[in-house]
Amino acid sequence: MFNLILFGPPGSGKGTQSDKLVAKYGLVHLSTGNLLREEIATKTPLGLQAMRFMDKGQLVPDEVVIGMVDSHFDKHKDAKGFLFDGFPRTVAQAKALDKLLELKKTEISKVLLLDVDEEELIKRLILRGKTSGRSDDADENILRSRQDVYKRETLPVAAYYAKAKKVIHIDGIGEIDEIFERLCSHIDKKMK
Ligand code: ADP
Repeated sequence: MFNLILFGPPGSGKGTQSDKLVAKYGLVHLSTGNLLREEIATKTPLGLQAMRFMDKGQLVPDEVVIGMVDSHFDKHKDAKGFLFDGFPRTVAQAKALDKLLELKKTEISKVLLLDVDEEELIKRLILRGKTSGRSDDADENILRSRQDVYKRETLPVAAYYAKAKKVIHIDGIGEIDEIFERLCSHIDKKMK
């Protein structure tokens, strides 16, 4: 299996680039944000619980997210690999993911980290909020607190994978296709 993590702050373009990457490399896209929004849309108990955190820009509790990822894994037993997007977002989630992958006798190959400065992120998210219909994109205070949560709880995940020399920084500023090419050139090197 070939497993990648697309990493970066809210608004860095993970969702956009993930769609292109899974189409090109035939990986299964695992976006915890999308999975949680599906749970909310279908009003499951998990979704109703998660919504209370998401609307405030806080993280959904680890055990909820990890359980959801585990059952998504079970649905894709024959996957040739996964692209993780928006997960893991805490060190506890990263450790849980490592264990799940170990059971499958595989591991994370690379963590691709999209670098975008905070003012550009806020600009993009305000723009997205005008059309996305996402309640967590509508309010600038919530956008800012999501950036704070990222720095406080999610950036340590990058340090965790950096210890294993798995992190590659990618410049996340530019045209969508340009950034996609940057990502592909690193992936192609790794897949050879
Ligand atoms: P973005 O990266 O643009 O903030 P996502 O769609 O990845 O968007 O996530 C939206 C929200 O869903 C997060 O702010 C958080 O509340 C929740 N969420 C998504 N993934 C996770 C996760 N792995 N752990 C905890 N909460 C998560």
